[in-house]
Amino acid sequence: MKENICTIPINDLFKPKNGCPICRMEEMLEETYVEFIVGDAMMEPNIRIETNKKGFCRRHFTKMFSAGQKLPNALIMESHLKAIAENILPPKAPSKPDKKVIEKINALRESCYVCERIDHDIHHLLATVFSEYQKSEEFQKLYREQPFICLNHYAYIMSDASGKRGIKGKFMKPFCEDTYNLTKNYISELQEDTSYFCSMFDYRNRGKDFGKSKDVIERNIEYLTKEQP
Ligand SMILES: [Zn+2]
Ligand SMILES: [Zn+2]
Repeated sequence: MKENICTIPINDLFKPKNGCPICRMEEMLEETYVEFIVGDAMMEPNIRIETNKKGFCRRHFTKMFSAGQKLPNALIMESHLKAIAENILPPKAPSKPDKKVIEKINALRESCYVCERIDHDIHHLLATVFSEYQKSEEFQKLYREQPFICLNHYAYIMSDASGKRGIKGKFMKPFCEDTYNLTKNYISELQEDTSYFCSMFDYRNRGKDFGKSKDVIERNIEYLTKEQP
């Protein structure tokens, strides 16, 4: 499972030039894991132990339900409920609120098997992005040609770039410049389009064309929010 994802050439992931490349990677990983969970993973008891422990966020339960058959979904839920009933809830009513139980439920609420696998793989893929950037001018060009990097992934990339598997020495400056431009140029474009969009509601502009500002609200949401939980 892990091998499949790690062997996808990073160049291929950057070629489609459609939206934020890291969002695109996340979508690809998400689709792969969701299908895996309700498919091949059904035959792997080790994965079930993990998913029983971590559970899923609402987004991923919903995606699993639409991607998979009803029975695999119900079987996953059956063993997840059993794990909660046996390992998290106390066998009988407590005489006072039990802090440990509350902590366990809060931890479960914040964890999701799919989210955690995606997060793990994204760090790995970013390390590959950094190494490719330092190895190949062709990849640097491909990186610069991305339409934009969303605000969340700007922070993600920058934080990993200074990490152990990040960007080294002389490459740091051009890399930061390229990454900054990908987010900064796009925010400028959004600002311009958003102001234009607002101005279209002035009666003096009645009948004019919204032009490329027409989907600016959708584009702002895409830029400003992380779709992943
Ligand atoms: Zn993104
Ligand atoms: Zn999730």
